[in-house]
Order: sequence, then structure tokens, then C-alpha cells
Amino acid sequence: MKILVINCGSSSLKYQLIDMDGEKVIAKGLVERIGIEGSRIKHETIGKEKKVIEEPLKDHNDALKLVMNSIVDPEFGAIKSLDEIGAVGHRVVHGGEDFAQSVVIDDNVMEAINKNVEVAPLHNPPNIMGIEACKSLLPNVKQVAVFDTAFHQTMPPINYLYAIPYKFYEKYKIRRYGFHGTSHMYITNRTAEILGKDVNEINLITCHLGNGSSITAVKNGKSYDTSMGFTPLDGLAMGTRSGIIDPAIVPYLMEKEHLSAEQVNNILNKESGVLGISGVSSDFRDIEDACSEGNERSKLALDIFENNVRKIIGAYMTEFKSLDEIDAIVFTAGLGENSKETRANIINGLSAFGLKIDDEANNMRGEERIISSPESKIKVLSIPTNEELMIARDTLRLVK
Ligand code: ADP
Repeated sequence: MKILVINCGSSSLKYQLIDMDGEKVIAKGLVERIGIEGSRIKHETIGKEKKVIEEPLKDHNDALKLVMNSIVDPEFGAIKSLDEIGAVGHRVVHGGEDFAQSVVIDDNVMEAINKNVEVAPLHNPPNIMGIEACKSLLPNVKQVAVFDTAFHQTMPPINYLYAIPYKFYEKYKIRRYGFHGTSHMYITNRTAEILGKDVNEINLITCHLGNGSSITAVKNGKSYDTSMGFTPLDGLAMGTRSGIIDPAIVPYLMEKEHLSAEQVNNILNKESGVLGISGVSSDFRDIEDACSEGNERSKLALDIFENNVRKIIGAYMTEFKSLDEIDAIVFTAGLGENSKETRANIINGLSAFGLKIDDEANNMRGEERIISSPESKIKVLSIPTNEELMIARDTLRLVK
């Protein structure tokens, strides 16, 4: 069966068409600047030349029409007819407490996703637009929702409750939800395969380090604790997000700078993290380049980020009875997969726990391998994540 995987952002849309017979990507692409001047699609059918089409796209419906046309284009497309698409899998950011697993989308599911717009005002609306557009363009094809939050629904209350009056959990569902669940789950499954362990018995600390970053403690194959919280702002310092700060900074800044809650939220989400510290960029490659040119604040930004990661790994070690219980620490996503310096600095900085990187094994990018030295107390791996494949697998399982 061929499955179309859709990941809708507010002004962008990523897609992959995957042939599940062999789990091969046959086409993929990105639509950018939806609803903004200069909209375009970058489409690639594997084995054919890449195609860029610029065309005004007023909304996600227009964008998806262009995706469908590109997929079936006689010259640069991948399939002859849309009838070949067996199902569509959608990434949905927030499933709240309603979804601990992926689901086939029906009216009740749409109602629940809509209800969760309240806790994910930035993320769920574009996901909903993508689903609605696919429903109208492919009315007879089953659609599946795969939630970023679902994997983390196994967390116990000691890890998901914030120590604020309990009534706010009851009234507004304010709690830790966690995100990047599809990636942490993929990494959990893949690590179990690589280490030859039953996934229901594996204990891990998975580090998704990209533009957005989060770390998860996985106990017996399930999420037990994770660093992102009520929103993806919590936890580590990231490209532009502050991560954990003293909450008293919020009212203090509002008062001192005469800012609204929304303005402070914007500063913490878009102007903070390594961008805020370095003043250079939110992109870790730019920060690394600036460091090598002697830019002090970029060095400071990287040091803060790596220290954040080490402290959370250290904290999550306490979730296990002994270090022997932890099967591996795993790096993934843009930075985790690609930056040998970041991986080495993080792991070698945890020498108090007997961790050690193997410089030769670690000297690579984007490969799947064990990168710790044989004497390291806990194995360390680097594994490229594949959220699209995870979404496609869940979709196939549910529509079969
Ligand atoms: P997103 O959260 O947007 O999915 P990614 O997982 O793609 O992000 O990660 C993007 C980040 O990974 C960027 O900050 C980028 O600079 C960083 N990155 C990608 N390749 C490298 C590399 N070779 N060295 C260092 N950082 C890298």
C-alpha cells in the first residue's frame, strides 16, 4: 500500500509518499509560504529530477491540490492516479489527554482535535486545515492522526503534574504533555532492534536535539518522563526557545518592559535560546561556525545548551534504580545526528557517571551506530530519526 504522510505547519507543509511494500519513499516535498506572497512547492520523485513550482497558494487546500497534482504529474510525478494512495497519515501536534495512540480520523476525533486547540493554539489549527483539505480532495481515503503527545501519555503523575494548585490541572488540564513523541518512539523501537532487546524491556534516555529539542526517559519501552512540558517551550534551551526559566521572570519582564503576556511569550519562544544568548543565529551550524571564528557569545550559547542537556540526562538517570538498568543514551535529530562535537562534549562531560565517547566511532554524520567506547558505563548511540516512517507504519496498522 502507498501512504501519503502529511505534516502541516502554519505556512508550510511537508509530505512524503511511502510505498509500504519495502518501506521506500517514492516522492517527497515541501510547500512553503502558504498564504504569503511567493508560495512554492519543492517536489522530488525519487530517481527523477527535482521540481520547483512557484504559484500563489491562498490556503492549505490550494497547497494540497498542488501536492496531489505534483504526485501524479505525468512528467515528474510518482504515481499514475490518486487512486493508488491507500491512506493518509497526518502529524497532529497536540492530542491532549484524549489520545494515547494514533487513530483513524472520524467526526469524534475531529471534535477532540478541535478541543485541543485550546492547549495548542499555534500547532493544531494548521494540522486541522491539512486534514480537512485531504478529506475534501481524497473523500474515499482513510485518514489517520498520529500525535506528538501520544507516546508520552504513559508518564506517571509524579512526572506530569506541575506543583501548582491541583485545581488548575482539573480546570484547564495544565500538566506536562511532552512532544516529539513520534521521534522518541521511533528511536525506542530502532534501538531495541539494534541492541537485540525486547522493546517492552528497554530502558533509555533519548535525546532529540534539533531546532526544537527534548529528552525522554524511556522505561520498559514507554515514556516515563520528558523535558518538554505543557507546551514545547519547557526543558532545554533550543534554537529560539528559552527552555526552563524561573517563572517569576515573566511578570518581572512584563512590568519592567511594559510588555503583554503575548509579547513575553513571543520573546521566550522566538528570541531566546541559542539565538538569544549568541545574538548570531538560531541555527546550530552558524553557531558552530561563529565559535570557530572566536565569537565568545556563540561559545557561551553552545556551552549553555550542552550543559542543559547534561543536566537533564543526569536528572533522568535518577529515574532508574541503577545505571546498569539503562540500556543506552541515544542521540537523534538535526544536531544529535550530525554534530560529533556536541555529542562528544555532552557525553565526555558526564564522566562522573563513567560515560565515554569513542572518537573514531563518533566521527560521522547521519549514521546509525554505537558511539561510546567499550569501557563506557552506558552505551551511547546515534540514530537518524524517521518520524514520517513511524507515521506511515501507524497509518498502515490502523487502516489494514
Ligand atoms: P527541526 O526541529 O526543525 O525538525 P532538525 O531536527 O532538522 O530541526 O534540526 C535542525 C538543527 O540541526 C539546525 O539548528 C541545524 O543547524 C542543526 N544541524 C544540522 N546539521 C548539522 C551539522 N552538520 N552540524 C551541526 N548542526 C547541524
